[in-house]
Amino acid sequence: MRSLEQAQRDVLAAVPTLPMLELPVWDALGLGLASPVVAPHDVPPFTNSAMDGYAVLGADVEEAPVTLRLLEDVPAGHVAHQAVSSGAAIKIMTGAPMPEGADTVVKVEDTEPLPDGVRIMAATPTGTAVRPAGGDLAAGDPVFAAGERLTPPHLAVLASLGVSPRVHRRPKVAMLSTGDEVLPPETGNLGPGQIRDTNRPLLAAMLDELGVEVVDLGIVGDDADVLRNTLEWGAGEADMVLTSGGVSMGEYDLVKIILRELGTIDFWKVAMQPAKPFAFGHIEGTPLLGLPGNPVSVMVAFEQFARPALLQMMGCRAVFRAQAEARAAGAWRTDPAKTVFARVVTEVEDGVTLVRSSGGQSSNVLSALARADAFAVIPVGTGRVQAGDPITIELFRSPEARTASEVLDG
Ligand code: AMP
Ligand code: MG
Repeated sequence: MRSLEQAQRDVLAAVPTLPMLELPVWDALGLGLASPVVAPHDVPPFTNSAMDGYAVLGADVEEAPVTLRLLEDVPAGHVAHQAVSSGAAIKIMTGAPMPEGADTVVKVEDTEPLPDGVRIMAATPTGTAVRPAGGDLAAGDPVFAAGERLTPPHLAVLASLGVSPRVHRRPKVAMLSTGDEVLPPETGNLGPGQIRDTNRPLLAAMLDELGVEVVDLGIVGDDADVLRNTLEWGAGEADMVLTSGGVSMGEYDLVKIILRELGTIDFWKVAMQPAKPFAFGHIEGTPLLGLPGNPVSVMVAFEQFARPALLQMMGCRAVFRAQAEARAAGAWRTDPAKTVFARVVTEVEDGVTLVRSSGGQSSNVLSALARADAFAVIPVGTGRVQAGDPITIELFRSPEARTASEVLDG
């Protein structure tokens, strides 16, 4: 059996980073930066007012009240025609460039308008409400490193700099389900021995959340010719192929047979639970991950192998989810020969994160997976967890946890 870490190392070593290209900020969410970003100019690009008010000389407003002569109005997007000198003020809007000479903004609430001037009602220290050019980023500042994954605020920063990021191409992932018993999720009445396909909806949604393009190859029955054709087509079309089912020990595990024939595929027994049987290799140069059939195993294998591999393809430096330390709320028994991914619910009590089983831990029990917000990662050699023991968790979602009435009607 291969350790989880060895299996992850082998997958990551065999998955390329996709080609680079420059993309508009609109299209770059979730991708990894292919090269560092350096600020081409100051942000803000000019010194401007942080408030609606009056641009003045700080020396004129050290004491109040004081009356100043009004020179003109500067709305945002416009530039003052005159400089501010002692005894004068220019009315200014938030974001408008500071007029020459002015070094202080008195906010409008602290003033009273006069026919040709303004009365300053509050003493205002020099420099108040002025946002200096380059106060956020100065020209030449390093902004983001290569390998950073672009989040919404990253994209906003790039927009402020006018930079279209150089990123790695977004992967396309082809997915299919296998098995004669598997029918589309839309199926109304199931015949004897039939089940609905849970794995494609699960995979499609996880790929979607990751920001990867999905090529749906559908359900392929246990038919060698159809499977061969579908896999060949999918490998040509996509940057990665994900299959589910057909990689364990059963006689009908055709995926195994066809993969052997089509590409360079290895069948692994990984020392993990769930998701022990796992296939990995290439068909015509396209990496293929053969996930197990049981849906919980699909998610665990996706999380531990496919997701990191896809993030690597996307050029992201960090490819594994964050882990956190928590405590077991109750006792647990696990297989000491495997890394066990237990589906758990987390709850913070007195500042300590406690984890509890979210329900049935068999690899077919989807309801407990849907209730869970994290995997407890129980390392090889553990076997027994006692209440209060430290336990490592991987949060796979941070669900909204507070209802409007809890928050607002409290
Ligand atoms: P297999 O490895 O193909 O024998 O599949 C293992 C188990 O997972 C069997 O109980 C299958 O019926 C089930 N399974 C396989 N594919 C799917 C799927 N797409 N949706 C739901 N269950 C599946
Ligand atoms: Mg099967």
